Amino acid sequence: MALVVQKYGGTSVGSIEKIMNVARRVGKTKDAGNDVIVVVSAMAGETDRLVGLVNSITDLPNEREYDQVVASGEQVSIGLLAIALESLGYRAKSFLGFQVPIYTDSAHARARIRQIETENVMRAINEGYIAVIAGFQGIDEFGDITTLGRGGSDTSAVAIAAAMKADVCEIYTDVDGVYTTDPNICPNARKLEKISYDEMLEMASLGAKVLQIRSVEFAKKYGVRIHVRSSMNEKEGTIVTGEDEIMETAVVSGVTYNKNEAKITIVKVPDRPGIAAKIFKPIADAGINVDMIVQNVSLEGFTDLTFTVPKTDYKKTMLLIEKVAQEIGAERVQGDDKIAKVSIVGVGMRSHPGVAAKMFRTLASENINILMISTSEIKVSCVIEEKYTELAVRVLHDAFELGGEPKEEV
Ligand code: ADP
Ligand code: ASP
Ligand code: MG
Repeated sequence: MALVVQKYGGTSVGSIEKIMNVARRVGKTKDAGNDVIVVVSAMAGETDRLVGLVNSITDLPNEREYDQVVASGEQVSIGLLAIALESLGYRAKSFLGFQVPIYTDSAHARARIRQIETENVMRAINEGYIAVIAGFQGIDEFGDITTLGRGGSDTSAVAIAAAMKADVCEIYTDVDGVYTTDPNICPNARKLEKISYDEMLEMASLGAKVLQIRSVEFAKKYGVRIHVRSSMNEKEGTIVTGEDEIMETAVVSGVTYNKNEAKITIVKVPDRPGIAAKIFKPIADAGINVDMIVQNVSLEGFTDLTFTVPKTDYKKTMLLIEKVAQEIGAERVQGDDKIAKVSIVGVGMRSHPGVAAKMFRTLASENINILMISTSEIKVSCVIEEKYTELAVRVLHDAFELGGEPKEEV
């Protein structure tokens, strides 16, 4: 008998029919003699709707109240799934974050899980219940409801699997597994049988939203094996596991894109020691993650400084930076939220020169202008205009021969 954690994303519980389908699937796992913990997201589109309600009042809501609103979608889906399971003759009990409890820090809208108590859920399991737990949410030390950032149910599931010492963590979604790139953009994307934690970490952090990045961090830290698969069929999906299990490493194993960042440029910054620290301190104090930073060569004592932040923090950052720019005597601040970051990822890149050059050449051949570049040992990222995202992903996927169909010999 195994302890199985199954997570169902929004599209998998998007209607009553789909919830009944999930209930049958969960029931089958229980019938096979397993203990089952199910982690559920809000019904498809619901969290977007709730965020929209908040933003129809203000772009800069009180974050405690934002969490209070957006966490509510999961309350409905866990209750409905528990009722669906009961209707099929199973015993099921739903848990909100605070009922587990799942303790987090107080960084509202981007909280981190600190500790998960196992007692309440394990008691229910031992009494024969299927436990249905709300993803995406937790509770902080003040008793306030927190959320883990968009896509956070993946992280809830992996953290619960680690805490409860589950044998496997299955992530059910609307695609069959992890692909070489988003299969909804690139029809010839190829499904990966296995992917290492490190590569998945890089893909997730660069925009492959099939898994939230923190879920992969947890999985790597606690050695949780993740199986990403479809809730609509029985096909084997993708196993996310340690590098030692993966025999072959491609030079480039995936292409990702991220449309959720915005770019801010401070024009004519006086080039003096301590200026960068002054600029980035208020941003860090506000808990905003800066991604790429580029500083131009100084000209006559002035330089331009460009960086990117999540789009959701764009307005807040602009307000902070306009103030700092005045204080340090910079000329002006420019913002652009119509950008995208496309990246190529691969552990094998470490030992292969020329990969970045090929990426730049490929983008240039389609007349796509590169606005910013950043590289690491296993990835190259370019910021481009948002309207070219899909084209860039497709031509890069082709250029690095990642497609499912073998290339025709000419
Ligand atoms: P869920 O609601 O189940 O959490 P998400 O929408 O968060 O589902 O994640 C699944 C989506 O991730 C897919 O529909 C696909 O468009 C997108 N995606 C992006 N990159 C990839 C990739 N490399 N492999 C698979 N899916 C990807
Ligand atoms: N419902 C949340 C969201 O839409 C969490 C999740 O789906 O993982 O972001
Ligand atoms: Mg998701």
